[in-house]
Amino acid sequence: MNERCLAEIMNCPDLPTLPAVALQIIRMARDPNADIRKMADLIASDPALSGKILKTVNSSFYGFSKTVSTISQALVILGLQSVRMLAMGFSLVSSMNRLEAHGFDLVRFWRRSVYSAVGARALGEELKVVQSEEVFLAGLLQDIGMLAMSSTLEDRYDRLFALAKNHADLLRHEREHLDVDHCLVGKAIAEKWSLPPLLAVPIACHHEPEEAGEELAPMARVVHVAWLFSEVFLQKEPAEALLAAKTAARNMLHLEEPEVERLLKKINASTHEIADVLEVQIGERVNCTRLLSEAREALLHMTLQTQRQADALQGRNADLEKAVTIDTLTGLLNRKRFDELLASEFSRARRERGNLCVLFVDVDHFKRVNDTFGHAAGDAVLRNLGSVLQRVTGPTHLAARYGGEEFVVLVPGATLQTGSHLAQTIRQAVEDAPTGFGGRDLPVRVSVGVAVMEGGAYFDDPEQLLTFADRALYAAKRCGRNTVRICPAPQAAAAPK
Ligand code: GH3
Ligand code: MG
Ligand code: MG
Repeated sequence: MNERCLAEIMNCPDLPTLPAVALQIIRMARDPNADIRKMADLIASDPALSGKILKTVNSSFYGFSKTVSTISQALVILGLQSVRMLAMGFSLVSSMNRLEAHGFDLVRFWRRSVYSAVGARALGEELKVVQSEEVFLAGLLQDIGMLAMSSTLEDRYDRLFALAKNHADLLRHEREHLDVDHCLVGKAIAEKWSLPPLLAVPIACHHEPEEAGEELAPMARVVHVAWLFSEVFLQKEPAEALLAAKTAARNMLHLEEPEVERLLKKINASTHEIADVLEVQIGERVNCTRLLSEAREALLHMTLQTQRQADALQGRNADLEKAVTIDTLTGLLNRKRFDELLASEFSRARRERGNLCVLFVDVDHFKRVNDTFGHAAGDAVLRNLGSVLQRVTGPTHLAARYGGEEFVVLVPGATLQTGSHLAQTIRQAVEDAPTGFGGRDLPVRVSVGVAVMEGGAYFDDPEQLLTFADRALYAAKRCGRNTVRICPAPQAAAAPK
């Protein structure tokens, strides 16, 4: 944490001081001899403050059937603690309201704060695990650090504000550029004002509620979820905010979708009334039913789109996988895949003392095809050869393009006899299938070299087997081409000596 930056903010003369009434309320709360009458007298001595408290208590938000007309009555109905919290909240908001925010949107700030406060209270009531008035105040003050940072750091903060894509992103920028964030500043202000930990800790942890410690985490979770609820009313396209709010409500507070939607409607119905009491501007009213149905529709659309993208990605991955193993010109396996298969078939033959046959197939005088008829004719010949090999070798024999006009066939289990028979079949099939190109038939011939590992013996490694097939091919070329030659295994060749 950047202590200097925090000190700079906290020592700034522009930072609001605790209003006199709030100060007295806090002092009185600590005084064991103070009674409810003294508190009533204190609040009543500030007509603006008591007026706000009575308006709030009589608002639809509280839903009392009888009108509460005095602070004493409010104290009896709500209890000392609740009225104290309301009084503190209202006097703090009026002093915060005097702060000058520079580059950021105050209406948006108050919209988030008031929606969060009302949301936190509604959640507190629903869950009955936290005190409603405390979470109301924590919700209201959670972002007070932002206001303090903007009014004290001015341009340095306002730049970050302009950079941030949303509220969560602002927090990242604060941490990255200032090494201090609005949660910490909020906590420092709460402590400076001597607010109890019950308020200071949830303010400090409103973005990371689990950090609040076992005792205060339930309150911090409520404030956090209330913030996410407020985002639903802050975004132009609230679908994603609604999804985030529902997810957090389920994971942190075990509230299901219908309850979340019911609460959002309830919150929306009271927020503007509370903003009026607090005398803060929070922008336009929204029709929550319409907002929810449009957001649900947009979410469905987004889910479908994500599904489609996932399907397309899966298809692309399959294509990529194929591209990695298939030669594009001929459709046969490529060399990389062939090498892998050769290695695994070689070790299997070794292990099981089986046979493995390799055929090297090379086009005779292929260069002449290119030179005489052009490269496209050469490509057509290679394509044709690919389909002949595929047809003759079938699915169990593995034909691959080894490179250029060289092809290989791997025949697991074949003896020297079946291997050479297959080689002859290939040679003949190529001869019988000239390549049609530009209205003429291009005659094509191939030479084939055969090497066989029998009973898993003789060869040291797959490369050696391949080298022997290549040697046999070279022999076929030397013997005039369009023919098949066999290279005996190393040990077999040495045997007669
Ligand atoms: P040999 O009978 O001794 O095998 O003679 P060759 O002409 O077939 O062999 P050489 O190695 O002299 O020439 C092979 C030619 O194949 C050279 C190269 O340009 C051509 N080639 C390699 N890959 C391709 C390809 O993908 N398309 C085309 N059209 N030509 C290719
Ligand atoms: Mg915040
Ligand atoms: Mg050739």
